[in-house]
Amino acid sequence: MQITANTAVTLHYHITELSTGKPLDSGHVAYLHGGYDNVFPKVEAALEGQSVGFATTVELDLPDAFGPRDPALARVIDKKDFPPGVKVGGQLQGPGPDGQPQVFHVVKIKGQEVHLDGNHPLAGLALRFACKVTEVRAASTEEIAHRHVHGGHGHHHG
Ligand SMILES: [Zn+2]
Repeated sequence: MQITANTAVTLHYHITELSTGKPLDSGHVAYLHGGYDNVFPKVEAALEGQSVGFATTVELDLPDAFGPRDPALARVIDKKDFPPGVKVGGQLQGPGPDGQPQVFHVVKIKGQEVHLDGNHPLAGLALRFACKVTEVRAASTEEIAHRHVHGGHGHHHG
C-alpha cells in the first residue's frame, strides 16, 4: 500500500543533531498522513507515495524542525514554591508568556533555584531525521476524525 492522504504510517526513526551527529531520540511513531501536522511536513513530503521498506534521511533546519529556542520560556523559580519531590526531567504546567497553559520541563536544580524551560527539548537544533517505513494501512474514520492514529505506536486515550 502506498502512503497517501489518510493512511496510517508507522516509522522507525532516529533523530540526530545535524551539525554534530549526536543521537537525540529514536523509536517508533505512527502518524496520520495528509497534512495533519503529526510529523514534520518535510518528512511527510519525502514519504508521499512510498510504501513499507522505504528508508530516507531528511535534514531539518530550525524552521523545519522545532524552531528557535524562545528565551521567554526559560524561568528560575524558588524551590520552596514547589511541592516536595521536584526533580530534573519532571514536567509541570503553568501560564506561558501569552497566558495560555504551557508545559515546562525542569532542566536544572541548583541549590534553591529550580530552572524551568517551556521550549521543546529539541528547540534550537537543526536535526537529521532518518526513518524507515514499517507499516502502511488505511486509517479508520475515527482516526481521521481525531486527526491522529490509534493503537500500537499511535495515540492512546487516557
Ligand atoms: Zn483519538
